[in-house]
Amino acid sequence: MNRFPDFDMDDRWILSHRSSKNLVEERTPYAFLAEEEHSASGTINIVATVFLTNQECPFRCLMCDLWKNTTRDKSLPGVIPHQIAHALAQLPPARQIKLYNSGNFFDTKAIPPEDYERIAKLLDPFETVIVECHPKLINKRCLQFGDMLRGNLEMAIGLETVHTEVLKKLNKRMNLKEFRQCVKFLTDNGVRTRAFTLLRPPFLTEQEGVIWAKKTLDFAFDSGVECCVVIPTRPGNGAMDWLQSEGFFSPPTFSSLEQVMEYGLQLSAGRVFADLWDLEIFSDCPHCFEMRKKRLKGMNLQQVVLPEITCECNIPETA
Ligand code: SF4
Ligand SMILES: [Zn+2]
Repeated sequence: MNRFPDFDMDDRWILSHRSSKNLVEERTPYAFLAEEEHSASGTINIVATVFLTNQECPFRCLMCDLWKNTTRDKSLPGVIPHQIAHALAQLPPARQIKLYNSGNFFDTKAIPPEDYERIAKLLDPFETVIVECHPKLINKRCLQFGDMLRGNLEMAIGLETVHTEVLKKLNKRMNLKEFRQCVKFLTDNGVRTRAFTLLRPPFLTEQEGVIWAKKTLDFAFDSGVECCVVIPTRPGNGAMDWLQSEGFFSPPTFSSLEQVMEYGLQLSAGRVFADLWDLEIFSDCPHCFEMRKKRLKGMNLQQVVLPEITCECNIPETA
């Protein structure tokens, strides 16, 4: 079987496989929460995360499902500060905040620049402000926003994979050189970066998925990234489900996520987090799932490799 389908999985094809979006309210973030995270300085801090509702990202990455909680129209001035104030009024005090907007914070249709000052004022209590953005939209505007903040700006960027052929097929519209240049631009200007990396994107076997996830961590840290998030690739956006049904994609196993996390932490090159959302879909053993999830959570928080959980499902068979 060929590694890739024999046709172009372009914007039009990806869009044609989408289901309908969720109902979202323009003036309300679609979710917000507070959780603990190991900070860059080594302490465990409460981090507030606000998932802003705004216009859909203009990119159409093959594996992305973030469009589900977005609007078709561009955000009107005042709406984003209103959403942030709404979430902050209900969240506990925190030292760091993530403003994740299902796309690019510096996409002016998603976050109007005339709102930057008001947003920055609302973020006064935070030591670190983490936003996400595609390298093509990272420029001097980001630095201007950073200058408005009392705390430090940190940029989360989707690196996804360093398998160049797969990266191209992901329709990310970014190459590794651009990623490296972008991290350098930010680092040179005092902005810390974190990279989103995929474990077993489509078109890779389980073993290749692990190998390339490790190479992706190596590349990210070598580029100057301070923190990497390992995201097990999921179906659910239409295109990925089609690829799965045709044999071009399978979600990674829980054990692969553990291997990549252990590798990343042992590099001691920066923080490494496993994305723990919806982990059940990667496990096929109900006996050890909760314990193994707890272990990964502990590894996220402590940034050390914790003792392995043994279970019938992961004892190698003897001859
Ligand atoms: S750039 Fe990010 S938000 Fe936009 S489609 Fe790609 S993965 Fe999704
Ligand atoms: Zn088990």
